[in-house]
Amino acid sequence: MSPDPLISVRSFSKAYEGVPAVERVSFSVKPGEILGVIGPNGAGKTTTMRALATLIPPSDGEMTVEGFDTRCHPVEVKRRLAYIPDDPRLFPHLTVEEHLTFAAAAYGVSQPDEKAARLLEDFELSGKRKTAARDLSRGMRQKLAICSAYLYEPSALLFDEPLTGLDPIGIRTLKQSIVQRAQAGAAVMVSSHLLAMVEDICTHILLLGGGQQRFFGTVDELRLEFADHGSASLEQIFFLATGETDAARQPGSSADSAVMA
Ligand code: ATP
Repeated sequence: MSPDPLISVRSFSKAYEGVPAVERVSFSVKPGEILGVIGPNGAGKTTTMRALATLIPPSDGEMTVEGFDTRCHPVEVKRRLAYIPDDPRLFPHLTVEEHLTFAAAAYGVSQPDEKAARLLEDFELSGKRKTAARDLSRGMRQKLAICSAYLYEPSALLFDEPLTGLDPIGIRTLKQSIVQRAQAGAAVMVSSHLLAMVEDICTHILLLGGGQQRFFGTVDELRLEFADHGSASLEQIFFLATGETDAARQPGSSADSAVMA
């Protein structure tokens, strides 16, 4: 029997000061699944993730994590979920080590030292143990946020543009770790404009456009719905599904560099 979804979103809508940003979006993520959230700028990707992370209230609809409603049980949701934005907020004066100690205490992690040491090794932060967050590079801050999240082993992991500040080794480590976490039973969401990465690791796709849900399903289902041949790349499908013109794909155009990076 198929497991219950860890993340469930039904008819989620969000308006900012009366202006709709996301309208009636529904999807779910089961253990082991990696959902790629894609769509042009302003499509509503971050809004959807921030609402799931209980950082902003939905205007309508229902969002649950392991069955806990984000509005009624935000603390239970926070215990089970990690939201990692591309520019995470850290405590500027706390060192790398202190961040992990804090995360371990806040989430009741047992025997955190060994886990922390392994994570710092994996993400090449071992040499920065005693460095304050304010003195880390942008990519290092991202890596620290990822290590802090992985330390308490949340069942739902939400990455918002996770690759923007990472170096090639960091990108490879993060991609591998996302796949491993999903294989271990986590439900993962990854929003990104880097469609090759999304195609590489995601099992499912949520395609948003102008706050509307254009598609939710597996990558194969997406191909069937939008492409006239089974070998179409996610990038080709993206342009077909969002109605972008060929002109936007000419080498050197800003749209081209955004998706090809
Ligand atoms: P991007 O790819 O550029 O990161 P996105 O898909 O993550 O975009 P959102 O950041 O969710 O898009 O924005 C969706 C819509 O909501 C946009 O029209 C944006 O202007 C609007 N919006 C987002 N945050 C706010 C806010 N705090 N106040 C008002 N409007 C907002």
